[in-house]
Amino acid sequence: MKDNNIGFIGLGNVGSKLAKNILKSNYNLFIYDINKNSAKNLINNGAIWVDSISNLINKSTIIITCLPSPKIVSEVLQKKNGVIDNINSNHLWIEMSTTDENEMIKLSKKVELKGANALEAPVTGGQHKAESGNISIFVGGKRKNFNRAFPLLSKIGYQILYCGKMGSASTLKVVTNYLASINLLSIGEALMVCKKYGIDLKKAYHGIRISSGNSFVHETETQLILNGSYDVGFTMDLVCKDLGLFNKISKNLNIPTKISPLLFKIFKIGKKKFGDRSFSTSIVKLLEDECKLNLRSKNFPSQLKDNDARKKGIEVNLKN
Ligand code: NAD
Repeated sequence: MKDNNIGFIGLGNVGSKLAKNILKSNYNLFIYDINKNSAKNLINNGAIWVDSISNLINKSTIIITCLPSPKIVSEVLQKKNGVIDNINSNHLWIEMSTTDENEMIKLSKKVELKGANALEAPVTGGQHKAESGNISIFVGGKRKNFNRAFPLLSKIGYQILYCGKMGSASTLKVVTNYLASINLLSIGEALMVCKKYGIDLKKAYHGIRISSGNSFVHETETQLILNGSYDVGFTMDLVCKDLGLFNKISKNLNIPTKISPLLFKIFKIGKKKFGDRSFSTSIVKLLEDECKLNLRSKNFPSQLKDNDARKKGIEVNLKN
């Protein structure tokens, strides 16, 4: 079956950018969100707005969800006239949200009971990589479903890793976000040491960049902190969801983590102080406020842009 018609549910900070790359690749794109305003730009670029999930499913063979929380995913899938009520053996559901691996397994079984197929494909790399189409994608589920989805996924992202059984991609996604969050928090402390010691923050940024303390988060998000915009397009509600999921998985596996509970506690304080929709990077402001010092430096951008040319999606080859 040729999948020319794609349905996309959830057009937020990252979902809208993933959807735009589908549109650029000449698919027919049917879109739905509870907030129609989030669809304006896509509609102007040729996406077709549908006013219900049943309509979206009737018009598409692949349905993508990119939603904020496991609770909302579950609602969209299981409510009356939601995804599961409407899908049939023609359909493949691809979950691109960062979600609970357990929920993912449960929902995919319910989808399969309707004769349809399911795949998890969370993305990682941030809003700017989602926009350029160079974002990384982790995929879990049956290999035959991965093969069906690959032509589409290769239009959305660049490095695509097939992780194996259902749940493994959601778990790996939460693991990498855990590491990114530790990084973010430690970058705030590192820069504050530099500032108080009297090292110019531009020098500090580049010193870290060319040395062993460098990281993806430093190269990208530190620039937004130094600018003062914090505008990373990833919000506190979502980072707290991800850290909660990491905590849950590590508890289920009886791993006595020490950093994870502390990290989760600090981000919950940040969410309470700055609000659900404040940017994850503003966690550094907790320390800035406590020290009554800001971490600003001139000539850093207020938003990130991926300067790499769009690369056609490839499956990450682990054979060598
Ligand atoms: P967001 O909060 O910006 O957007 C979520 C969208 O879902 C909104 O447009 C909202 O109106 C819509 N929505 C909420 N409830 C709905 C419902 N019942 N039916 C239909 N639409 C509904 O979130 P985002 O940043 O786009 O992230 C989406 C998912 O991708 C999350 O799971 C997040 O963790 C993950 N993610 C985000 C980023 C990022 O940088 N923002 C990166 C990787 C992964």
